[in-house]
Formats: sequence, structure tokens, C-alpha cells
Amino acid sequence: MLNNGSSDLKALKQNRRGLMVVLSSPSGAGKSTMTRMLLADNTNMTMSVSTTTRRPRSGEEDGVDYYFIGKTKFADMIEDGEFLEHAKVFDNYYGTPRSPVEAALADGHDVLFDIDWQGAQQLTQAAGDDLVKIFILPPSKRELESRLHTRAQDSAAVIAKRMAKSEAEISHWAEYDYIIVNDDLDTAMQELRTIVSAERMKRRRQMWLGPFVKALTEGQ
Ligand code: 5GP
Repeated sequence: MLNNGSSDLKALKQNRRGLMVVLSSPSGAGKSTMTRMLLADNTNMTMSVSTTTRRPRSGEEDGVDYYFIGKTKFADMIEDGEFLEHAKVFDNYYGTPRSPVEAALADGHDVLFDIDWQGAQQLTQAAGDDLVKIFILPPSKRELESRLHTRAQDSAAVIAKRMAKSEAEISHWAEYDYIIVNDDLDTAMQELRTIVSAERMKRRRQMWLGPFVKALTEGQ
């Protein structure tokens, strides 16, 4: 083992546990942008595409942003155990399809979840050690409100409702492993990348280390 130096080491390092990274935040804290940026520079990370009963917003694509389905189909999927977690958020249902996540993890990929606190709680039960939970906060209430208006994809009534709900979402901040305050996007992204890198380095996630150290000490 390890006679060929770095190429052997690279092959050995494939033997790692995939990370499940949960990103939650109140609407308008910048989570979608940060998710996109994190995926852009992490080829080994895939996004979990959720299923929802809410209608697509303009520009949203079925199978890319969400799988958009009706309430009856959603209920059938719950019944058939097809969700890793599911919850009612605002007036709609959202759920994480189980099989793509299991396939990605089995392929050695990390998986990123944009889900709310209810989903994070359920995944904690299901995934335990493999889970890293990150909460993104806006720098102020005023900024949160202004971001929701700038996005302008929802009606005024929906925005008002989301503002009211944001307080409830924020109240769960202490259930998360890491908190990022997204005041400046570059700084927030740097913090997010640092968290993911450090979590990947954790000993228990790097199953290749045992055989590697054994080979080191046995002089192979
Ligand atoms: P939106 O309708 O703005 O896309 O999402 C509303 C909220 O639902 C966001 O906080 C988002 O994180 C959450 N959400 C999206 N997909 C899921 C999911 O599969 N499970 C849970 N529990 N929450 C979700």
C-alpha cells in the first residue's frame, strides 16, 4: 500500500463518509445565493431537490428548483415512505425525496439541503453524525424586509406573512451547529466554505485514515 505515493493516497481518500449539509434561514437571508455559490465550487457536492405542493414562481423549473406536485401525490409519497423528511411550511408542503440522497451519499458525494427547521430536526433523528446544520441570519430586521421586497417574486400579502414567519424560523437558531450572519456576501461565503472544509476534515469522516496510518507505522 502507498508504494506509488500521491496517486495511491488520492485513491485511498475516496473512502470517506459523505456530509449532509443543511442550510436553513428565514426567507430573504441570502440562502439561495449562498447555496448556488457553494455548489459552483464543490463538484463533489450535490443539491437535494425537494418536492413541493406550492406553485412554481416565475423562472423556476420543475426538477431543478423543486419537483412541483399536487397534494394527493404528496400524500401518496408520504404513505410510501418516499421522503427522508417532510413538513408544512407556510401554506404548502415540502419534502426531501429519499432515494436521490441515498444514491449520492453511496457514491461518496456530499449533499446540500435547503430545508427549514422542521426538516433539520427530522434529519437529525435520521442522520445523526453525518449531518452538519448551518443557520443563516440577516444582519437586521430592516435588511431582511428590504431583501424580501427586492426579490419581488411574491405578492405583498405573502411578503408580510413571510416576515411574520421569519421570527418563528429565527427562534430555532440555537438548534444549529453553526450560525452565519450574512451582512457581507463574500465574508459569509468564506465562513461557509471554512465550515464545510473543516467538517470534511473530521477524523470520523475520513475512513481511509485507519489503513493509511497502519501502513505508515508498519512501514509499507
Ligand atoms: P420557498 O417556498 O421560498 O422555496 O421555501 C420556503 C421554505 O421551505 C424555505 O425555508 C425552505 O428552506 C423550506 N423548504 C424547502 N424545501 C424543503 C423540504 O424539502 N423540507 C423542508 N422541511 N423544508 C423545505
